[in-house]
Amino acid sequence: MTLLSLEHVKKNFGSVQAVKGLSLQVDEGQIFGLLGPNGAGKTTTIRMIMGIILPDEGTISCFGSRDRKTWDNRISYLPEERGLQRKMTVEQCIHFFGQLKGLNFSDAAYKSTYWLNRLGLADWHDKEVQELSRGMQQKVQFICAIISNPQLLILDEPFTGLDPVNTQLIKDVILELKGQGSTIIFSTHLMDQVEKLCESICLINHGQVVLQGKLSEIKQQHGKNRIRLIYEGDAAFLKDRELVQKADDYGNYVEIIPANNVSPQQLLKAMIQQVIVKKFEITEPSLHEIFIQTVQGKEAPHA
Ligand code: ATP
Repeated sequence: MTLLSLEHVKKNFGSVQAVKGLSLQVDEGQIFGLLGPNGAGKTTTIRMIMGIILPDEGTISCFGSRDRKTWDNRISYLPEERGLQRKMTVEQCIHFFGQLKGLNFSDAAYKSTYWLNRLGLADWHDKEVQELSRGMQQKVQFICAIISNPQLLILDEPFTGLDPVNTQLIKDVILELKGQGSTIIFSTHLMDQVEKLCESICLINHGQVVLQGKLSEIKQQHGKNRIRLIYEGDAAFLKDRELVQKADDYGNYVEIIPANNVSPQQLLKAMIQQVIVKKFEITEPSLHEIFIQTVQGKEAPHA
């Protein structure tokens, strides 16, 4: 079931067309990746979903309604930039955000204690936010976003400033919230995290959707005919442009894109006449490659 729907949404800032008729749908219970290069319009889109700015044109509906008042308390946002009051104590800050989203004081206090313990910040509850490190502030901001158990949680670069242990901790909480039925929109430039967490993605560029759908299906569509080969011998066929469009030699293996209309089977037939095939695998491209191919219209550079 569709939880959030944007239809033909546009937003201009003066002469800058930040979002140009964008339509997207997010299904209930998913982790959804909102991706795009710098300046693509992701933050502008998120701000319109949150009602921080209004679209110039188009509609946004959530939980089946276009009336924002019916869903304001059911959605929450972790912005990329720090949005905390630096002079407040950690606890005051979390209580404030909890109450802003409709919790009464005792619920906000109970949940604040729970999450501060869970994220290893219990000893910092009465410190001013400005005394905390960048990563610790990020965890406090994360608690502020989840304290009200939002049904839709929007996370803009949630892992910024976090070490691998805290990244794991936050990732586990995100998966737990999904397990409890929350829908999560996740905006990041970290493609490996998207691969691990997201079921569906929407890639935007210049304020428009350029790729949208289930991640597994997108990878299948982009992954046809990509081969990973380990071999022994003289692989002259790799230079045959009638057979091979592109071959990247990584030392331990070669990644091959066959020429148009050449199937993996035809290529295998040609190669076993020249080399000893030790491993032949039809692979999917990484999301990193798909991102670069889609945004720049060319193959990804070597990692
Ligand atoms: P990044 O990945 O770098 O955070 P983004 O995809 O979130 O980028 P936006 O911040 O939405 O991109 O910006 C989209 C475009 O709108 C950019 O050209 C940006 O300069 C412009 N823009 C965004 N906010 C404003 C504003 N308040 N006033 C003027 N221009 C703006």
